[in-house]
Amino acid sequence: MTWALDDRTGLLLVLVVLYVIEGIVWVPSGAVLFRASLWARYARLYMGSLFPNEQGGFCLMGLMPANVGMISQQWPVSLSQEGAFAYVATSLGGPQRPDQTEMFIPWTELHSVASEGLRVSVNGDLFVEVCSPHVARRICDVMQSLPDQTDAQRTETIQSVLRDTTSLLAVTERLGHLKRALRLPSLISWGMWLIAFVATPVLLWIAPRDVVTVIAGWGALMLFVCLWIGAVFAYRRAVAQLRSVAPSVDAVMDRTWLLIYSPAAAMWLPDRLARDFLADLHPLAIAAVMCTGERYRNFARRVIRDVHQPLLPNCPDHDAAPQATEKWFREQLLSALERTIADSGESVVSLIAPPAKVEDAHSYCPRCDMQYVHAQGCCGTCGGVPLERFA
Ligand SMILES: [Zn+2]
Repeated sequence: MTWALDDRTGLLLVLVVLYVIEGIVWVPSGAVLFRASLWARYARLYMGSLFPNEQGGFCLMGLMPANVGMISQQWPVSLSQEGAFAYVATSLGGPQRPDQTEMFIPWTELHSVASEGLRVSVNGDLFVEVCSPHVARRICDVMQSLPDQTDAQRTETIQSVLRDTTSLLAVTERLGHLKRALRLPSLISWGMWLIAFVATPVLLWIAPRDVVTVIAGWGALMLFVCLWIGAVFAYRRAVAQLRSVAPSVDAVMDRTWLLIYSPAAAMWLPDRLARDFLADLHPLAIAAVMCTGERYRNFARRVIRDVHQPLLPNCPDHDAAPQATEKWFREQLLSALERTIADSGESVVSLIAPPAKVEDAHSYCPRCDMQYVHAQGCCGTCGGVPLERFA
């Protein structure tokens, strides 16, 4: 017996495959994806969990068009009064740091900074690669402003960047704007999804093969095409709306051509609009607003312990200027994150408290919570962080 697909079934299968592929997100190492439903209050947090490797991993957005994935990363450049260092010791508590160029550039030697896509170049050389063009542009803007400032002004600018990117208010406001901008795109993507994956199978395999079904089929196809065209216009309108409230988002969100060639991309319209919108805000601030209490608490514990005690060695460069820059910037980051945690109603002291002691354990790693039977030594997982004894 042979079995062959007719044209309509084949087309539907192609659409299903494209839809699933469009719902796969690459999460680079060091970045976090917040997957949320537009109808639910809380988000899940992913760090490249599918087929992970040193460069990152994939996440599946699920099958419903109401899901959106928002990517975010920590500020990836250490800044100080002396210069910019393309290296941060912190890794959001992850088992390794993402690749970094580790280039240090004193402000006096900074002649040009440019962003192109995900890359920021300094004096023509690659300086840092980030998870979103939005982040690259923001780093570029900050670095362009610093060389002409006095030391006091630089301190204020750097602290202000950290304050802004770790602010719960900034996350809440941006999410409010995003939800308003996504209302029409959500309706359109739901409409396309229902026609493609509910109405079409019913008409193809369940409805009687009569003239009414044929008319309904053509009607559904026409409506699908109309919604597809509407998706392009709704996308452009929403981008304009989002730009007006977050100008730095800018043209990086303009991916109209993607929607024109792929109906599957149009069905993920809210996700496409949301993906970069929070990218420059610290994942901890986003988690505080979007995740449930327990999930946020676990993530906050891991992040704040990592800032207190990053993977060793803290700095790959033995020169004084990059070492001082890394240390000073991490102190500023710690202050900013402690304020974020306090604003969220959590206690930093309880987050950095020792873990619950398991039987036979005499010490633990203050970074990763691993417990050891010996009373002293170092944690191999964290590059040699000294263990602390249980009281
Ligand atoms: Zn450890």
